[in-house]
Amino acid sequence: MFDKLALIGIGLIGSSIARATRLKGLAKHVAISTRKLETLDEARTLGLGDTYTLDAAEAVEAADLVILCTPVGAYGSVMEQIAPALAPGAILSDVGSVKRHVVDVLKPLVPASVHLIPGHPLAGTEHSGPSAGFPELFVNRWCVLTPGPDVDAVAIARLTAFWGAMGSNVECMDATHHDMVLAITSHIPHLIAYNIVGTVADLEADTQSEVIKFSASGFRDFTRIAASDPVMWRDIFLTNRDAVLEMLGRFNEDLSRLQRAVRVGDGPALEGLFTRTRAVRRSIITAGQETAQADFGRPHASAKVPASALPGTAPELGIREHGGGEDA
Ligand code: NAP
Repeated sequence: MFDKLALIGIGLIGSSIARATRLKGLAKHVAISTRKLETLDEARTLGLGDTYTLDAAEAVEAADLVILCTPVGAYGSVMEQIAPALAPGAILSDVGSVKRHVVDVLKPLVPASVHLIPGHPLAGTEHSGPSAGFPELFVNRWCVLTPGPDVDAVAIARLTAFWGAMGSNVECMDATHHDMVLAITSHIPHLIAYNIVGTVADLEADTQSEVIKFSASGFRDFTRIAASDPVMWRDIFLTNRDAVLEMLGRFNEDLSRLQRAVRVGDGPALEGLFTRTRAVRRSIITAGQETAQADFGRPHASAKVPASALPGTAPELGIREHGGGEDA
């Protein structure tokens, strides 16, 4: 599909792309570049690529597909290194979790002969680094591309086919719209998780130990999300500020309504909301984006899908082998 794929950054996402590319034969040559020697050595030991270098410019030489897989905050410095070395006609893409900021940073630095097509796979886990990746990460998950209106249709089709071959469903979207959608589906949930786990961290030592001890309820799932990479999430909130604040405003209004319902004992309001939210979860499972298995599919010898779960059997519902992952 491609002669040379250059991956700049080889953590969870970069290494998953490398593994899927090799498994499916999507590029003749995979060049890997990262910042630290120890990370590069880990990628080499795992056999993720054909060539390895700490020099990002060297990695992108003669590459017809370049994908930035670093935290978004590093894009400016990475682009300064690679821009002069990008091959004419190459596709430059990325996997960053925000898109308007990415377009604003990259576009002025991209040579006119290079096709800029930012991307975002809606797939991930709370783990980081080259060893955390796996080739099935993108299977049955969405990948959003945000090309500008003037981008070559053939280049978009080639990148769409690349993600499709890794198992993704691909959709093109405006970058600002992407950021608004992801603010409510991903960024605010992470902010809530960081906040609630932070509140526990600040509790008195006695109470804190009991929260940890009895955490096998809702709190545990928040801690999984709140264990996500601090640098990556710092960059997301710094670069998607407007959309996050807009959605946070709506969230706070709804929270105030909920707070009032609890205070005045408005049972019908509480039950009405909880019934609507249950339906939202069911529709996500029906769409194949989550498992209907109890406890998010965590392995339990005797766990069964209750008869009251949704129509369709587990495989039809798109249960993932690596269930429980967290999208960014
Ligand atoms: P990761 O596992 O932490 O890997 C990050 C990679 O970027 C590492 O190779 C790291 O190299 C490199 N890097 C970090 N800072 C750098 C810098 N200043 N300059 C150059 N390289 C640098 O991260 P990830 O989870 O794969 O995330 C990568 C991107 O994917 C992020 O933009 C994120 O928004 C996006 N994304 C993540 C998820 C998710 O769930 N994790 C989902 C979708 C999209 P060294 O170790 O050598 O420093």
